[in-house]
Amino acid sequence: MPQLKSIELYLRLIEKIDQYESKLLKKYSSDIACCKGCDSCCILESVFPVEAYVIYESIRSGALISADLSQNGSGRCVFLKGGSCSIYKVRPVICRTHGYPVYVDGRVDFCPENFKERNSIDSEYILNLENLNNSLASINLIFSGENSIDFFKRERIPLKELAEFVINKEK
Ligand code: SF4
Ligand code: SF4
Repeated sequence: MPQLKSIELYLRLIEKIDQYESKLLKKYSSDIACCKGCDSCCILESVFPVEAYVIYESIRSGALISADLSQNGSGRCVFLKGGSCSIYKVRPVICRTHGYPVYVDGRVDFCPENFKERNSIDSEYILNLENLNNSLASINLIFSGENSIDFFKRERIPLKELAEFVINKEK
């Protein structure tokens, strides 16, 4: 992956989210239903350019040789294949936090499949979604100043177009 400052910051953000996830799963594993094959939330349509770029570079460099780029025609996320995420290692930020306890719009939210038997969640396990989104938006802004590829010069990148872009680059 090219050494752009924005990519370095993005990967650091991902590392922090992954650390949060490990901590959450350690404490609440029996309360969390998220698992491979539970895919009803995989309806993502677009991502920030910096996220799209990381997916693109990972596929292009061969780090994700198993990524299936064919359109699935189901109206679901284009990277969902056979109930699994075909870009799991580089899935976007929202896919790393979705379903987990987040503080947003003045309340705590999480997937109704999770924490079914629990009345409260320790506050240190609740992610502040606004802070996370602000960090991601700032990193994306830095990326927009560093990026030189026209395809990524947009506010959001539709995942279907990203898959097509990668396929066309591979030809
Ligand atoms: S967020 Fe909900 S629907 Fe999505 S994987 Fe987790 S439990 Fe399943
Ligand atoms: S990128 Fe992966 S985890 Fe995210 S919605 Fe698509 S298939 Fe699901």
